[in-house]
Parts: sequence; structure tokens; C-alpha cells
Amino acid sequence: MNESRFAELAKELDAADPLADLRERFVGHNDPAISAYFDGNSLGRPLAATLDRLGEFVTHAWGSRLIRSWDEGWLALPSAIGDQLGATVLGAAPGQCIVADSTTVLLYKLARAAVAAGAGRTEIVLDRDNFPTDRYVMDGIARECGMTLRWLEADYDGGVSPEAVASAVGPQTALVVLSHVAYRSGFIADVPAITALVHEAGGRVLWDLCHSAGSVPAELDNWNVDYAAGCSYKYLGGGPGAPAWAYVARRHQEDFAQPIQGWLGAGDPFAMGADYVPAAGIQRVVSGTPPILGMLAIQDMIALIAEAGMDAVRAKSVQLTSFAVQAFDEILAPLGVTLASPRDTARRGSHVTIDHPSFKDVTARLWERGIIPDYRNPNGIRLGLSPLSTSFAETWTGIEAIASELRHAA
Ligand SMILES: *Cc1c(COP(=O)(O)O)cnc(C)c1O
Repeated sequence: MNESRFAELAKELDAADPLADLRERFVGHNDPAISAYFDGNSLGRPLAATLDRLGEFVTHAWGSRLIRSWDEGWLALPSAIGDQLGATVLGAAPGQCIVADSTTVLLYKLARAAVAAGAGRTEIVLDRDNFPTDRYVMDGIARECGMTLRWLEADYDGGVSPEAVASAVGPQTALVVLSHVAYRSGFIADVPAITALVHEAGGRVLWDLCHSAGSVPAELDNWNVDYAAGCSYKYLGGGPGAPAWAYVARRHQEDFAQPIQGWLGAGDPFAMGADYVPAAGIQRVVSGTPPILGMLAIQDMIALIAEAGMDAVRAKSVQLTSFAVQAFDEILAPLGVTLASPRDTARRGSHVTIDHPSFKDVTARLWERGIIPDYRNPNGIRLGLSPLSTSFAETWTGIEAIASELRHAA
């Protein structure tokens, strides 16, 4: 298929896309300076509804209701948004998700609680390809708690298999920490199978959903997950530095030992009591004052995902990445580009990573042209195809630009 045929195909796919109109809800969808945005998996585009929400918030809830707003909704907001996320995106019944902190801090808090619950068990299992913060946090916990890290190796264009986990876990395993969707390759891990075999060994699992929440459906309750966390500024539209969310299965809330005992995770914070008595339920994951301003926008994206339906979001995501892989095969592979993501759509999240030795320079030139992917060492371009804000035409524009830059450089 030649390049003009790909442009036509992209148009046909957009015309047949039931979610196409929702793209207009995003600020900047028609910005002539941005021809293609491929970083919705790093910083999602804002929604126009968020502009209104933020202005209204400053005028009314903050500007007029002032401190009374804490009782009129702010204190309850972290768990209210958590429940909405659970229902729409995460497959979690109410009372198990809460918005707080950053992903990094939540990974620390959840892992420390998991390790404390596995008293006597000495190992944390993780993979070398996980996102740096996940590895660094576990390294710190291992030192702090006198534990050993057991490392898994993942395939470059894949991820961690159940077999690899099975051969690493045993009676010494306290915790396994893995990503649902790998940040580099986009590989989707088999969460239910891996979770089940860690449980057979008597351990617990902490799943990082940063790269899946809002693009790949999750069923945390059905999958029997112990703990999960993820950020809200990728596919969940929270904005730069927006707080993260945590999931603690109800069965583990009673033994959740909070490592950062703050007043707002206490049972009766306004008693200003002498000693810390943890709150019941998911509230005990909280440490200090919730970042209300930062969590406002998440609600608009949850509402949009609910309107579209998570299954439709996933269907569009699969179509987008399949289109990108087809264009890669026919246009980019002949130019020496290689694919660093799974071909099996059932194992591929919402981004496609492609490699070429000149991609660092190519990315810089693409940014100047208003084509915005991101570059990941050693030589990868990640095409993050955010199902609600990316069109097929935009995807083709970007791939065509990569091809033209490669030809230009050759
Ligand atoms: C984006 C991402 C993070 C980010 O953590 P922050 O604390 O928000 O900086 C962590 N883990 C994974 C897998 C990510 O993709």
C-alpha cells in the first residue's frame, strides 16, 4: 500500500470511528501548530470541560465557600473520585480506591504495607524493564527493610510472562511489583494469571497501571489484585503533576500498615488526639491534606470515558495501534526501522514503540514541525495513541513525517 492510500485509509477509519466526535472536546484538537500529538501516554490533552470547571472552582468553591468547602465536599473528594475511577476504569467496587500523593509516593506506601504484612518473607520480585521510579522505590525499601530484590528479565519487545514469575516466586516472596502495561514496549501483562500464581506462593502483588488506566480495561476485583496504583495525568486527563490513585483490596485494608502516619489518615483527624489511630477502610492510605486543585480535572475525563464506554475506548485503541503497525510494516520497516512492541493486539497497550539509530535527532526535528512523539533511550520513538484524543489522520501524518525525516537524513 503506498502513502496516498494510507492517507485515504486514515480518512475512512476516522469517518467510521464512533468516538471521532469526542476528539473535539479536547482543548487544542484543532491547533494548527500541532499536526500530531503522540504523548497522551505521558501528558494527556486537557478537556474543554476542565477549563470551565477550574474557573468555577476558583470563583465559587474556593473563592466564595472558602474553608467551608472542606466539609462541603473536599474532604470526601479523594474517595469519591476513587470510587468513580473504580466503577468506570478500574473494575473495582466502592471503598477500595483513593486519590492521593504521586505514583512514586503511593508505590512506596503500598509496597511498605505489603512487605510489613508478609512478615518473615525476605524478597521483592520486580523486572529490570519496569519504569525507573518503580525500581528505585523498591531498591530503597529493600535497603530500609533488609530485603533482597529478585530481578526478572523481560523481552525487549515484550514483557514479563507468567512462567518467568512462576520461576521466581516461592515461600520467601513477600511482594511482586509489575506494570500492567510496560512503559517502553507497551506489552500487556497477564494480570490474573500472574496474580494467581503469586498468591499460590503466599505472596502479594502490586500492579502499576500508569500506562493502562483509561486506555486498557482493568478488572482489579475480578483479577483478585492485592494493591494497585497509577497516575492520573496520562490517559486520565488530570494535568501535569496531578495526584495519583491507589487501590487496596478490601481484604487487605485491615492490615494496611501506613508508613507515613499523618493526621488525615487517622480515624478522627479533628479530635487532634495524642496518638495515631488509623481510619477504617481506604481512608487510611491518606497521609496529609489532599491536593484538591490537582484532582479536579480527572472528573471530566472519567465522565468522558463513562460516556464513551471503556470497551469502545479499548476497541479504538486497538484499531489505532493496528493502523500504526500496518503503516510501520509498509512504510517505516523498509527504511530500517524496527518494531519494539508486541504484534499480538491482545498483548499490546495503547502505544507503539519503534526503533532507529537516528531517532534522537529525528524526534528533535519532528518537534520543530509540530509532530510530538517522545524519545526513549536507547533509540526509540513512542507513538502514544490516546484513544479519545488521537485521530487516524493524525496518526498517519506523524508516521509520514517520520518517514520523510528518515529519507531526508539518509
Ligand atoms: C508515569 C509513570 C510513573 C510516574 O510516577 P510519578 O510519581 O507520577 O512521577 C510511575 N510508574 C510508571 C510505570 C509510569 O509510567
